[in-house]
Amino acid sequence: MLIVQKYGGTSVGSTERIKNVAARIAKQRANGEQVVVVVSAMNGVTDNLIKLAKEIMPLPNDREMDVLLATGEQTTIALTAIALHALDVPAVSLTGAQAGIVTDGVHTKAKIQNITPRKIHELLDGGNVVIVAGFQGQTLEGQITTLGRGGSDLTAIALAAALKAELCQIFTDVDGVYTADPRIVPGAKKLEEISYDEMLELASLGAKVMQSRSVEFAKKFGVVFEVRSSLNDNPGTIVKEEAKSMEDIVVRGVSLDKNQAKITLVGVPDKPGVAARIFKAIGDANVNVDMIVQNISHGAGAPATDLSFTVDKPDLLKARKVIDHLTQEIGFREVIATDDIGKLSLVGVGMKSHTGVAGKMFETLARAGVNIEMISTSEIKISVVIDLAQGEQAMKAVHEAFLG
Ligand code: ADP
Ligand code: ASP
Ligand code: MG
Repeated sequence: MLIVQKYGGTSVGSTERIKNVAARIAKQRANGEQVVVVVSAMNGVTDNLIKLAKEIMPLPNDREMDVLLATGEQTTIALTAIALHALDVPAVSLTGAQAGIVTDGVHTKAKIQNITPRKIHELLDGGNVVIVAGFQGQTLEGQITTLGRGGSDLTAIALAAALKAELCQIFTDVDGVYTADPRIVPGAKKLEEISYDEMLELASLGAKVMQSRSVEFAKKFGVVFEVRSSLNDNPGTIVKEEAKSMEDIVVRGVSLDKNQAKITLVGVPDKPGVAARIFKAIGDANVNVDMIVQNISHGAGAPATDLSFTVDKPDLLKARKVIDHLTQEIGFREVIATDDIGKLSLVGVGMKSHTGVAGKMFETLARAGVNIEMISTSEIKISVVIDLAQGEQAMKAVHEAFLG
């Protein structure tokens, strides 16, 4: 049996933890299984590397950031291999490039284009445990790339698909996927299973337990995976295709995304082509836009409107730069940017067949004295943008109302 296991930053956060991971891997291998392991950088290392670069320059070059950030995972693959050697288990570490992970050239958020796992198979056939660096790959031209924050999850899922692994396990520092972040909502409950679509929404909406792109990938290639703890043997949460019975549960989980920022363009001329011009320029800078709200126009002669949208917090500077370039050309009256927002979301496939969820959510927020700045909905989620300072309190109230 071929197993892919991924260990996140906390799970490899110290040499003691790395030894713990090695012992777990050794146990699997003793059962006769072939094991491919994906590891993250040690807890805090990626953040610290980003901080160092920004101490030198606020908007460092993306290519150089990839060269820098890839070192985090390169450290842990070697240490994990060494920890296995200390247990007399043959193990070889591979960088993303050495493992055959080819990506496009969008530095800091590259997409995996294909994986040629020839080397991995060769090493497995030779009786080795193979340790692959998460979060990184290389372009066809040999440039080092990274896959976006939390990208080791994607490495693991993509490898499980490419290797046709029988089992894919994501080991982390909580027992599985909960109805809300258990560190914020103490009453959150562990889920036995969750559908790809629900996991995808929760992940995109701030539940950092899984990187959202990795869940997208798993859904596309039908990779069933388990999220579980590296610190105990409790069963985790199975993430898989939606089953009909899952619709009986209206709300599966609540998430809070503190990683968004809001830009408001005041007095945008209300005429065809303006929104296209703005969002094309932002897209060209590889900045993802999430919610967009445009108000009705005001002013008779030359009607103008206010346009608000949200972007990932780390992209705020980049987005501002793009907007500043457009100010003259389009002629906004004012640009207001804030990163003091939180996006609170309710997710559940059962919302497709149940009504009244939005009303109850807004009522709960009103009772908690929380003002709603923006709203967006889909078939299986409702999101609101609120003041960051009230985020956690609002999350607890909404969790209590629906899942308490
Ligand atoms: P790793 O380093 O293993 O990748 P992460 O820190 O990326 O781990 O993700 C695990 C963390 O995700 C948990 O410690 C928890 O605080 C957080 N989290 C947020 N939402 C959820 C949720 N719904 N269920 C479980 N954990 C969650
Ligand atoms: N080390 C990277 C990060 O912190 C990737 C990961 O941990 O999955 O984002
Ligand atoms: Mg993670």
